[in-house]
Amino acid sequence: MTAVFNKPSVAVVGGGWAGCAAALTLAEAGIAVTLFEASRTLGGRARAVELEGQPLDNGQHILLGAYEQTLQLIARLHPAAVHESLWRLPLTVEQPPDFKLACPRLPAPLHLLVGLLGARGLSWGEKLTAARWAHALIHGREPVEGSVSRLTRSQPEKLRTLLWHPLCVSALNTPPDIASARIFRDVIRAAFGGRNHHSDLLLPRRDLTALFPAPAAARLIELGGTVRLACRVASLNAAADAVTLGTRDETTAYSHAILAVAPQHLPALATQVPALEALGREVASYDYQPIATGYVQYDPAVRLAKPLFALADGPAQFVFDRGQSHGQQGLLAFVASAAANLSADWLDQAEAQLQRIVHPGPARWRKHIVEKQATYSCVPGMARPAVCTAHPRIFLAGDYTAGPYPATLESAVQSGVQSARTLLERL
Ligand SMILES: Cc1cc2nc3c(=O)[nH]c(=O)nc-3n(C[C@H](O)[C@H](O)[C@H](O)COP(=O)(O)OP(=O)(O)OC[C@H]3O[C@@H](n4cnc5c(N)ncnc54)[C@H](O)[C@@H]3O)c2cc1C
Repeated sequence: MTAVFNKPSVAVVGGGWAGCAAALTLAEAGIAVTLFEASRTLGGRARAVELEGQPLDNGQHILLGAYEQTLQLIARLHPAAVHESLWRLPLTVEQPPDFKLACPRLPAPLHLLVGLLGARGLSWGEKLTAARWAHALIHGREPVEGSVSRLTRSQPEKLRTLLWHPLCVSALNTPPDIASARIFRDVIRAAFGGRNHHSDLLLPRRDLTALFPAPAAARLIELGGTVRLACRVASLNAAADAVTLGTRDETTAYSHAILAVAPQHLPALATQVPALEALGREVASYDYQPIATGYVQYDPAVRLAKPLFALADGPAQFVFDRGQSHGQQGLLAFVASAAANLSADWLDQAEAQLQRIVHPGPARWRKHIVEKQATYSCVPGMARPAVCTAHPRIFLAGDYTAGPYPATLESAVQSGVQSARTLLERL
């Protein structure tokens, strides 16, 4: 099919955070947009699910104060009540009874250095070593290569196990032995090298679909766009003057397309377009890391002393109190990142880890979700494609495209906005 378009009309394939950010950016620029999402719920890997009649998420998420693009869009979509959507907390990593790091409200990176010097559970020698090392990492000019384990090898073992390696696993979802030192350094710089609020932790207070994808889609519709849920794009054809997408029900031509699917789903579409075959092969070579989230409902009176705690000695690294963040009293969420060797009884083990913090009594119900391909392995030298492809009418968006962050909400949203802006510049 060939088509000549008087006005651009763009198909965005994939209604995760990247696709929603791309579609919203285009619609706000006056472009006719159709957003296709294969599932019934928007949000992709950061979406709402219902379990035991409760609105939950397919994975407990946390945002950083440095996620500027994401936070800007959320604030724009929830103008009156952004604090009702996100709960901002100064960075604290607390792992009772062994460790506590709290960053005071001082200019960056002084807040980290003072936090490290005041940390509980470290000797003075360890505190000074950590502070010197963090300062050099944030301000150093020499290139950083290899794995995070290699990067941290000069640090005392206690600092590696209590601080740097848990930070690596939670930020990159990749074990330190294989995780990219460069991306880890970039995350530490983004969180601690800019403004002091960049290291804040932001806890969602509503489900993840309601936080951004649903209001973005509502705005898109207000602006005349179309959202097609439960509508998988199965075929992709690209000519010099149009891109044609096929779903189960119809085949439609658009002037351009943004492919905002996860990297594991890209090759199925990319290999249908000769110009994208090499891209499809490159992305098909990625490895993935799982993340498990366990929800445990205790007596509604159960409440942690803080909305989240770090947990020692695996399998879970964090426990969140959804009573405090979401008003779901007595409901705790355990998170195990880079969870490749998770045993079947991991939630029993996570509950045992919790005993160091609180004795909540018996669980009323427990559910867990294991996302086997939660994120790509963020390894040194991995090829991350640009948002432009070898076909001038097809663009990419997603957490795996080239950018400063590992697979996160911010990398997805930044990529969606950048993809849309690049498309607009080329019209
Ligand atoms: C359990 C878990 C915990 C996480 N925790 C954090 C965290 O705390 N902080 C953080 O910043 N990040 C976290 N992440 C990472 C974050 O969720 C992702 O980086 C981000 O959501 C990726 O968004 P995306 O839009 O690039 O991709 P996706 O979310 O994968 O979206 C792609 C969408 O495309 C759709 N799709 C695929 N193929 C087609 C097709 N052919 N037609 C139509 N639609 C299609 C899919 O259904 C999906 O909705 C976590 C991820 C997981 C899984």
